[in-house]
Amino acid sequence: MPELPEVEIAARNIRAWAEGKRIVRVETDPRAVRIFRPGDRAAFARALSGARLARVDRRGKHLLVTLEDRRGRPVGLWSHLGMTGKWVLREGADPAPAHARVRLWLDDGRALHYLDPRLFGRQRVVPRADFAALPEVAALGPDPVHDGIDPGLLAGRLGATRRAVKVALLDQSILAGVGNIHASESLFAARIDPRRRGGDLSLPEVRVLARAIAASLRRGIEMQEGPEIAYVEEPGAPNPFRVYARERERCPRCREAEIRRIVQAQRSTFFCPRCQGTPVARGRARRA
Ligand SMILES: [Zn+2]
Repeated sequence: MPELPEVEIAARNIRAWAEGKRIVRVETDPRAVRIFRPGDRAAFARALSGARLARVDRRGKHLLVTLEDRRGRPVGLWSHLGMTGKWVLREGADPAPAHARVRLWLDDGRALHYLDPRLFGRQRVVPRADFAALPEVAALGPDPVHDGIDPGLLAGRLGATRRAVKVALLDQSILAGVGNIHASESLFAARIDPRRRGGDLSLPEVRVLARAIAASLRRGIEMQEGPEIAYVEEPGAPNPFRVYARERERCPRCREAEIRRIVQAQRSTFFCPRCQGTPVARGRARRA
């Protein structure tokens, strides 16, 4: 599933492929009606036909594409990759890739394709490119790559929640862009039990966690660098992660315990019960 690194690569790719180019034709897949909701396919195509792609931004897992319509007025494209979405570039003569839901034909003869087998993604036209007016964007917390992670701020946000720290990290209003993979990987790197309450972490622990999140996302971006992102869930895809989707494998750090999988808020969490043991007594002492 896309997290900040995959969406960052998508933003860089679209920037390199299409910035400054004009969209001469828009095609949409009639089977993909749901990705355009609450808009519809016809309005989507109408709004983007003839527009010039002016800039591509990313906030958390959200792609924010600013275009200029034929009269030079700004119009926005909000693109969320959902669970299986990706943008790719194809030459005009190439056959359409499987699961292409949107095709933006550019004035250089090439086409940007939005692929989405499972249709959990979203593509929406944003009037005047006023992305801040979208509730999905307005609710986002700091972006770890654009804004950095302020440990004091993060500690404050975690301190205000009774949820387990792993569950809190998936809350996009706390940090925008962290998903299931990088939450598990960061907590492993920081040696923090994912089941501990967010509010029970000490400031030094949050500092370590903040560094671990930043490093995990940076590494994710480096791994995904290239013309097409790959998801670990795809058949045959390699798993470059240390604990994610490695249930019952030996821990790569202590080499003693086996990685465990538990379910928190309906999502899988992977961790090493030995390296990430709960320091109960110390945790209580800190709070006293
Ligand atoms: Zn371990």
